[in-house]
Amino acid sequence: MVLFSVIKGYSFTKVTLRASSKLHDRMFRKILLSPMSFFDTTPTGRMVNRFSKDQDEVDTALPFHLESFFQFCLIVVFILGTVSAVFPYLLIGIVVLGLVFSAILYVFQRSIRDMKRMENISRSPWISHTTSTIQGLGTIHAYSKGTHYIEKFKLLSDVNSNHFLLFNCGTRWLSFRLDFLSAIVTLLVALFVVLSPETISSALKGLALSYTIQLTGMLQYVVRLSTEVEAKFTSVERLQEYITNCVPEAPRKIEDAKIPSGWPQKGAITFKSYCMRYRENTPIVLNNLNMSIAPNEKIGIVGRTGSGKSSLGVALFRLVEPAAGTIFIDDVDVSLIGLEDLRSKLSVIPQDPVLFIGSVRYNLDPFDNYKDEDIWKALERTYMKDAISKLPGKLDSAVVENGENFSVGERQLLCMARALLRNSKIILLDEATASIDSETDSLIQHTIRDAFHDCTLLTIAHRINTVLECDRILVMDGGKVGEFDRPEVLVQRPDSLFASLLDAANKVNT
Ligand code: ATP
Ligand code: MG
Repeated sequence: MVLFSVIKGYSFTKVTLRASSKLHDRMFRKILLSPMSFFDTTPTGRMVNRFSKDQDEVDTALPFHLESFFQFCLIVVFILGTVSAVFPYLLIGIVVLGLVFSAILYVFQRSIRDMKRMENISRSPWISHTTSTIQGLGTIHAYSKGTHYIEKFKLLSDVNSNHFLLFNCGTRWLSFRLDFLSAIVTLLVALFVVLSPETISSALKGLALSYTIQLTGMLQYVVRLSTEVEAKFTSVERLQEYITNCVPEAPRKIEDAKIPSGWPQKGAITFKSYCMRYRENTPIVLNNLNMSIAPNEKIGIVGRTGSGKSSLGVALFRLVEPAAGTIFIDDVDVSLIGLEDLRSKLSVIPQDPVLFIGSVRYNLDPFDNYKDEDIWKALERTYMKDAISKLPGKLDSAVVENGENFSVGERQLLCMARALLRNSKIILLDEATASIDSETDSLIQHTIRDAFHDCTLLTIAHRINTVLECDRILVMDGGKVGEFDRPEVLVQRPDSLFASLLDAANKVNT
């Protein structure tokens, strides 16, 4: 018997644990492969909620309730079986009560499911509010908006608790009615005991009566458990929703894509009638781009804010798929190859530099491909060697979330060192020098020219002066190519967009 319980317990735990791990893994994989539009449209709080609370329900609460539910169901069935064996006529009463019971449950189950769902939904804004408050704590203190945020927190928490309270009141409502039904069953059995003929032994009558009294609490518990189990299953439903609804990005690798070995060897980029929008319902942000960038050319990209400069990078990395047209890199149509094949060949130093939790070494060389000397050399060329060698752990020093223990400028320099290490043929610098002081900036400009001299370099710059030495300047204008020519040609044309941008920049400086 003990062995049976152990085997039963073990297999139950194994099955439920496997099911919840599988759900988690599938959801995680789906989210990792989701396109940028998914992250643009899904609040972080909602995602955190699913991975924390919903996953926790599936991991711990659901198996716990499910096990008790099965156990008590069996006990109730056995009690009813025993009592009916003693008094077969009782079965008629049980059937009638069963019908009443099903009717109550039918009404109740729908409401409780919705209440639980509402409780789950109202938790997301609350978590979102908490996370965004933590992120913007500095700003909130600076503008003395603490009370406002606390009030909002209380409000959201109240809304969530209201649903929770409703859920509990609902279960109490049901308990009362179930108690009533159980009392009727007890009454019936008691009447049978008193009124039944002498042929049934008193021992059996006593057994039936004592079992029936037990039934009162048990029946109520089984129903409560069944509603709990069903309510917990809304969490499974929510995890399942991500698994079925998330549309993944294009495949990471396409086996039969014809990529020449060592691609891209030259680093020429051609945009052909390229149009892009971020999502179906948003306007076109890159509009019919037709341009060719020669191998090793240094292109400076300028334009008003929102003109689509960063979107060029998004397009190049295929973070968003084109609405029309395509991009060729060294005669390979990038939309026909796997995303991993494409992205591993390009480097970007983004507008808001990203560092991951881990060590400095992990951030520069996540796949352990390079030797320490190479890493130090890259750091030296980006003027970060001193800063890193002063840290107690050197290359193994910790980097906290978002790299907050480095200044924004330092983060950009580290990203640049990462790009240097990877030795990509095509490099995109998005405002890479915006947060660096002018002295380091000029040193960096020197490094960029020196280190990336045999790369195709696309530099997006707000400080126009930094791109004057580029081979050609691309002026973006409302998502279109405004001007694309050598800087000296553009400067000489007084009506050019570039000349007006340069004028504006000089006025600000003087
Ligand atoms: P800045 O100089 O301020 O960095 P930018 O030229 O880099 O500006 P982009 O970031 O390319 O501008 O944005 C171009 C247009 O695309 C803008 O109108 C912007 O509203 C839109 N846009 C940018 N990112 C998204 C996004 N994730 N979802 C929807 N629209 C976006
Ligand atoms: Mg930008």
